[in-house]
Amino acid sequence: MKKNKKKKQTKYIFVTGGVLSGVGKGITAASMGAILKAKGYHVTMQKCDPYLNVDAGLLNPVEHGECFVTADGVETDLDLGHYERFLDFETSKYSITLSGAIFKELIDKERSGGFKGKTVQLVPHFTNLVQEKIERASANSDIHIVEIGGTIGDYEGLSFVEAIRLFANKVGRKNCLYVSVVYVPWINTSKEFKTKPAQNALKDLRGFGIIPDIVCTRTERPAPKEIQEKIAAFAGIDKDAVVNLPDIKSVYDVPFNVLKSGVLNILNDFIGDDSEPDMNRWEEFSRLRNQEFKRTVRIGLVAKYVGNNDTYMCVTEALKTAAAWNKVNLDLVWINAEELEDSANNEAGKKLQACDGIVVPGGFGARGVEGKIKAASYALDKNVPYLGLCLGMQVACIAAARKGGVKTANSEEFGATEEKKNNVIYIMEGQKGKESTGGTMRLGDYPAKLVKGSRTAKIYDETNVIERHRHRYELNQKFLPEIEKGGIMVSGVSPDGKLVEFIEAPNHLFFQATQAHPEFKSRPLHPHPLFLEFIKACKK
Ligand code: GLN
Repeated sequence: MKKNKKKKQTKYIFVTGGVLSGVGKGITAASMGAILKAKGYHVTMQKCDPYLNVDAGLLNPVEHGECFVTADGVETDLDLGHYERFLDFETSKYSITLSGAIFKELIDKERSGGFKGKTVQLVPHFTNLVQEKIERASANSDIHIVEIGGTIGDYEGLSFVEAIRLFANKVGRKNCLYVSVVYVPWINTSKEFKTKPAQNALKDLRGFGIIPDIVCTRTERPAPKEIQEKIAAFAGIDKDAVVNLPDIKSVYDVPFNVLKSGVLNILNDFIGDDSEPDMNRWEEFSRLRNQEFKRTVRIGLVAKYVGNNDTYMCVTEALKTAAAWNKVNLDLVWINAEELEDSANNEAGKKLQACDGIVVPGGFGARGVEGKIKAASYALDKNVPYLGLCLGMQVACIAAARKGGVKTANSEEFGATEEKKNNVIYIMEGQKGKESTGGTMRLGDYPAKLVKGSRTAKIYDETNVIERHRHRYELNQKFLPEIEKGGIMVSGVSPDGKLVEFIEAPNHLFFQATQAHPEFKSRPLHPHPLFLEFIKACKK
């Protein structure tokens, strides 16, 4: 009998952080992933976070940054967006493991009698379930990278650290690579790097039974070799395994920093393949990102939370990417939607008028929405390129409906409009009563059919498209005559025709909006066509 071909053993890379969080552990991990992918491997990534939240859907975007949505409709945090951008793969519900979700699953099982009278404990029940999640997330991948949120020694992260230590027993130590990213501060007064916090972090990690195979020292400026050697000596690690990753201008240059650091040799040994990664396209993108072009486009981002890049991470990344491939510099101007509300003639209004293009990103709640409607209306009237994303489409429709005669047009979301009958945007079927609950919106990938001959179809070069979603309200098609009168037509609908997914202004330089979030699908090496064409129009 022919023997079944044995499935190739997946290799696991576990990335933990020491000293401080927020020093680029995720980007370092994703950069290693990008390099391995450039060697031709199927690489996937997963984040384990010790929050007690079940998902990121209800987290405040100002505090926690953008809510990223996976193709299968899970609301996660912006790290997964980085993973998708660096590895050019689609994350899923398996790519995020929050303590809250693990506890919920365990407690639900306990309540339904699933443990048959056994005591339920962090070890082994929590740690086993984490390991199951890691195996599930790595199905079919050659290399799976797991980032553990927070820093070593955090009280709440201990069970995850124990789980990844135990994981080596399951799949073999040789199939696991442990990476520790530690921060090494530069003390300006004494003009020296201080390695003690890193040493302590590595000592803690050792105390939990993990001796890392790679230590990445993150520094503000390049650190001399002796710093790495000192850490290696104190931590009992091979000196070539301690590398330096100093700050650089763009996160997209981190893969090159990682390559330069010597990490590739260790990765090669780990996977038993010393072929060169094909970094050509990364190099091309990095060159464009770092180049100063003659032409600059000024894009106004009309938003509720201004100045915080994290809150609109995918939007700003998609714009930067599209600008680079269009060979223009991007001047991103944050415009506070609330400030636009008073009069078009104030500071915010002037800022808006100085822009080559306007983006209204997604958003929730009434605050600043009149300003967003004003921005859409201005773009529509003045032939200024406009890109509306989710709420950005809804406000564009409200603006057009008002122009087309429905003076009190509004959205059901923004409080009681006096004349409820003029809710151009209304709540979707089945959504009533769920307005502030988690995981209940229309989430994830949904297909749309684009109108043949529309500009939207031309931009996508396709009439069947799939985009990610995160919304509760939709366009009420009863108002289409007025909206059309106001200058906007529907250019894409859900396959059953019930939901409007795309709109455009036909006689406009560029006025495109969608109920979806195309920014979630823009990748540095595969920029999104809507963003590319938007920036192209702004160049004119
Ligand atoms: N608040 C709107 C809705 O729920 C838009 C959502 C969004 O922009 N993501 O439909």
